[in-house]
Amino acid sequence: LLKLSGLGKSFSENRVFSGIDLQVEAGDRIAIIGASGSGKSTLLRCINALEKPDQGLIEFGNISLATGQANGQAYKEKDLCALRQRVGMVFQQFNLFPHMTVVGNVSEGLVTVRGMSKPEAKALAIGELRRVGLEDKADAYPSHLSGGQKQRVAIARALAMSPEILLFDEPTSALDPNLVGEVLGVIEQLANEGRTMLLVTHEIGFAYHVANRIVFLADGGIYETGTPDEVLKNPKGHLTQQFLADHQ
Ligand code: ATP
Ligand code: MG
Repeated sequence: LLKLSGLGKSFSENRVFSGIDLQVEAGDRIAIIGASGSGKSTLLRCINALEKPDQGLIEFGNISLATGQANGQAYKEKDLCALRQRVGMVFQQFNLFPHMTVVGNVSEGLVTVRGMSKPEAKALAIGELRRVGLEDKADAYPSHLSGGQKQRVAIARALAMSPEILLFDEPTSALDPNLVGEVLGVIEQLANEGRTMLLVTHEIGFAYHVANRIVFLADGGIYETGTPDEVLKNPKGHLTQQFLADHQ
């Protein structure tokens, strides 16, 4: 479904990672873990083309985004558009539109990107809100919601576009501890439905439970990867062991 080959990204002199190879198959639930600054967010942002890598290739079905400084121009608009329609992203800070109601937030992309009629988009949005248990908040504004509710709206908004891959960047780390569970519950439900997802998280227990593969980023690349049992229970590398000891 998605293939990264030799992906590398620097910010001026700061090389965040290089040589990232990752193949994502339909139904994969890949948890990306690593210390602060190891490049987890940057990797997700490269996949969603919010950042442009300077090395390597991103292939998503028939879309192929060649990077590299040699052809340092921007991606083709057509490819960007196609990619963003097929990849949904949920951010740590929710990123809801504050001036729109909940149902407005969820239906916006359907109207502006998909060209759906407003009533049709609204009906679909209500369906996605039902999925995350927030149908009754459809007409509320984000400022009147708890953090957990905001994040569930953000998930409904991503789902409304029927993405083939969902990217989650620490979806629970901005939440009060008592609100984490409701968001993890929704993510677990999506995993059980067979959705393909890449999840950056510090919730190691949840990663073990929900992921079929773990990617540990350190030392400028994928330092260790494997099944949750391999990486989280029997880590081979000393940096993995150290990281897990610090995240008990
Ligand atoms: P955290 O766990 O704190 O979210 P992370 O693993 O997501 O960390 P990134 O945010 O991907 O890490 O950052 C990786 C490195 O890239 C860091 O050194 C960071 O300072 C740098 N970086 C990220 N975004 C930018 C940017 N827009 N401009 C310059 N440097 C950046
Ligand atoms: Mg990050």
